[in-house]
Amino acid sequence: MKILFVYPRFQRHAEAHPELKKWVPMNEYLGSPSLGIAAMAAVTPDDIQLEFRDDRLSPADRATDADVVAFSFFTPAATRAIELAAYFRGLGKKTIAGGIFPTMMPDLCEQHFDAVVVGEGEPIWHQVLADVRSKSLKPRYKAPEIPDITKLPMPRVDLYLAKEAGDFKPDDYPVQLSRGCPMSCVACVLPTSMTKSLRHFSIDHVVGQLEQLNKHGKRACLTEDTSWFPGANAKQLRLLFERIVAKGAPATISYIGISMPLIITSTPDMLKLAKSAGVDMFYLVGGFDPITKGAFTGKDPRNLERAYTAIKKSLDAGIEPYTSFLLGNEDDDEGTVDRMLEFAAKSGITKAEFAIFTPYPGTPSWVKLEQEGRIIDRDWGHYNDANCVFEPKLMSAKQVTDGYLRLWRDFYAGKDFSDKCVAERTIQF
Ligand code: SF4
Repeated sequence: MKILFVYPRFQRHAEAHPELKKWVPMNEYLGSPSLGIAAMAAVTPDDIQLEFRDDRLSPADRATDADVVAFSFFTPAATRAIELAAYFRGLGKKTIAGGIFPTMMPDLCEQHFDAVVVGEGEPIWHQVLADVRSKSLKPRYKAPEIPDITKLPMPRVDLYLAKEAGDFKPDDYPVQLSRGCPMSCVACVLPTSMTKSLRHFSIDHVVGQLEQLNKHGKRACLTEDTSWFPGANAKQLRLLFERIVAKGAPATISYIGISMPLIITSTPDMLKLAKSAGVDMFYLVGGFDPITKGAFTGKDPRNLERAYTAIKKSLDAGIEPYTSFLLGNEDDDEGTVDRMLEFAAKSGITKAEFAIFTPYPGTPSWVKLEQEGRIIDRDWGHYNDANCVFEPKLMSAKQVTDGYLRLWRDFYAGKDFSDKCVAERTIQF
């Protein structure tokens, strides 16, 4: 039997707004695919042949001798995934959908795919494959339990590395430290898609993933902010950093996700340890937490002050705070754009990205805006942080989009990035 894994393409910021390429001094950059396919390939029995197509590099709708085509996708790629499923079904192939969007919208996906895998797929994958073999594929699969991630094998990142060619040579690939989150940030899908149970990979597993990448001259990007939660989580992260320092392996990590509250709760020595472990950059996610949601309203001086403190702490530790600003929160008004720009200039942020608040299916904000009848665009390709797909509260959708463009333009006006810019790695232009 043979499986074709497909990672469907999605529209990035500069495809939605080509003027960004004039204003932002960065090369167009394609990051690595998410880990979904690598994780499922790792639990696929050895006697099954695998093929991987990254639809962003070349169109995936080509003939195949595979028996089944398995897709992993998030919301921005859903429109293309549905299009590709129709193509492969036309060739007589069975199609399977998994990942964040199918987990959140299984009823919709059932209309377009032969089977939908809901939630983390590893515990149920063997059953899906057995049903493919016996020609008894069911419309929906959901594992009876969440996986014990300490028992999972290394993700098959080799499938992605094998696709590197020409301009596609990411110098970092994602590494997971944990899954799940007990919090309920309104714009985040993670607690719903991976449950509220925060589970950690073992240090050995994470180090194994880092070494796997290191062998190929690649670094790891660690995107979740959950590892910084005070208590057992931060302790585990500290152990990881200590292990990396002890091994004397520099430049293992390209960046790590964090938020302003978690910079504030981290001790200076923890930040120093992160720096010693090779962390030169924070991917500082904004717009989800109370500090950034309050700081730019013009009415919350305490959180504005805390935001300055967070940036200063990061800079003092020698870690670049690559900051992601989210425009379109419920309390944002027209003045928010100026306040964000003023904050960025005064705090010393030199690299940033800007995004439009997007109510992704499965998030608390999606549920709320649906109930209030404020979703105005259901083209999933527009759910990419570059389009306003809902009716904002204190601004119009056009004001949010114009403000987002002005943030990019004015923030980067006059900035010289002739050096290799780390932001190239994270901005999905
Ligand atoms: S943004 Fe971070 S803290 Fe908030 S729900 Fe998502 S993973 Fe949890």
